[in-house]
Amino acid sequence: EIEIRGLHKSFGDNHVLRGIDLDVGRGEVVCVIGPSGSGKSTLLRCVNLLEEPTSGQVFVGGTELTDPDVDIDAARRRIGMVFQQFNLFPHITVTGNLTLPQRRVLGTDKERAAAVARENLDRVGLAAKADAYPAQLSGGQQQRVAIARALSMGPDVMLFDEPTSALDPELVGEVLSVMRVLAGEGMTMMVVTHEMSFAREVADRVVFMDGGVIVEQGPAEQVVTRPRHERTRNFLDRVL
Ligand code: ATP
Ligand code: MG
Repeated sequence: EIEIRGLHKSFGDNHVLRGIDLDVGRGEVVCVIGPSGSGKSTLLRCVNLLEEPTSGQVFVGGTELTDPDVDIDAARRRIGMVFQQFNLFPHITVTGNLTLPQRRVLGTDKERAAAVARENLDRVGLAAKADAYPAQLSGGQQQRVAIARALSMGPDVMLFDEPTSALDPELVGEVLSVMRVLAGEGMTMMVVTHEMSFAREVADRVVFMDGGVIVEQGPAEQVVTRPRHERTRNFLDRVL
């Protein structure tokens, strides 16, 4: 579903991504781990062209996003993204947060948008909060709303950039369990995370990045439990 070929990204003379090749198959869950500054967020942001790659190609669902002639807005609609910060609209209700992008971006009619919102709030266990405002919710609930909002756009793939890093420890579990359910439903997911137990349990594949390259990748139990590379071992010794 996602194909990344020879991806490079520089910011000025800071060569951040140094040749990334990565495939994420349909229904696959890939967790990306690595030290701060290794380029994990930049990689995710290049997948939906929030950052423009310096060179290389990105394909999502067979469409080349790096093709200068592509309809980038149309291509981006198929990619949901969830950030560390939830970025909900504070002045509208939870339901409004889910219906507004559908109506504005997809042109969905009011009734249909509301039905999709209900369905996705139900999916993240927040049907009861439909009329609440974001400030009335806990961080974990806000992040679940952000996930429901992304799902309401009907994406083919979901990108998560440290979705639980801003949360109090006791709220991490509820967000990870929503992600676990999504994974179980067959959603294609690329997840930057420091949650090694989630990676071990849910990821089909773990990718370890350092210095803008993929140092090693493989099944979670291999990369997390029996890493082959010194750099991976050093990183895991620090985070586990
Ligand atoms: P963290 O674990 O701290 O989130 P990361 O692996 O996500 O780190 P990136 O955020 O991708 O790392 O950053 C990689 C490098 O790219 C850093 O040196 C950072 O300063 C640089 N960088 C990222 N975004 C930009 C930007 N918009 N402009 C300039 N430099 C940037
Ligand atoms: Mg980051």
